[in-house]
Amino acid sequence: MEHKLPLAVIIMGPPGSGKGTQSSRLSASMNIPKISTGDILRQVSLGDGPKSEYIRSVIATGGLVSDNILADLIVSRLSDLDCKDGFILDGYPRNIQQATFLGELLLDRNYKLLVIEVIVPDDTLIKRVKGRYLCKNCGTIYNKYFAKPQKDGICDKCGSSEFTYRSDDNELVIKERLKEYNTQTIPVLDYYRQRNLLVSVNGEKTSDEVHEDILRQIARALVNDCN
Ligand code: ADP
Repeated sequence: MEHKLPLAVIIMGPPGSGKGTQSSRLSASMNIPKISTGDILRQVSLGDGPKSEYIRSVIATGGLVSDNILADLIVSRLSDLDCKDGFILDGYPRNIQQATFLGELLLDRNYKLLVIEVIVPDDTLIKRVKGRYLCKNCGTIYNKYFAKPQKDGICDKCGSSEFTYRSDDNELVIKERLKEYNTQTIPVLDYYRQRNLLVSVNGEKTSDEVHEDILRQIARALVNDCN
């Protein structure tokens, strides 16, 4: 896809909406990196020391990690060379403070911003998150109800037979994460909608269809921009 300015695409959606899967697919199609704050924080949480411990405890209860930690993480990651032509954000921003912080950063660095909302009703979300598991080796996401690997027990992408699941994907924590989403993150959608930066896709379609819809929406936004 042709575009002049470096492009920042934010994929937004509640836990279980498929935004992680769609961000990975988009990253592959557009050949720009995907930045998942959840993945980065989970990685940091594995370390020793008070910061890792703090992040571990926040993730375990379904709350939001502090804006300062996220700000440092985003500034540092966006400065990497692979982000110079564009990037996809998955899981950031999650509240208005993060959105305004990111807005200034992108303005400074001259990125064009596009925000995609993946819409899925609440009852589907809980089932999706409860069934979610991933390849231990390459991180490809599967679902025991909706999206098993083609060969049972073997990852489609890398052939590994070891799988794992996220410890925050249990019903109690999911409800907490949904609550955080509804109170903190829904206002971010409104913020982008008011600025005409938001487009929505129906996340209940198949993964392929959602991917196609996202590509179409991005192409349309970029064409409109040239006129
Ligand atoms: P999901 O969208 O499925 O809830 P993520 O992998 O995006 O999962 O995030 C997992 C957890 O990491 C969140 O519940 C939260 O505790 C923390 N986290 C991720 N991104 C942010 C962020 N931008 N601000 C604060 N906390 C975050």
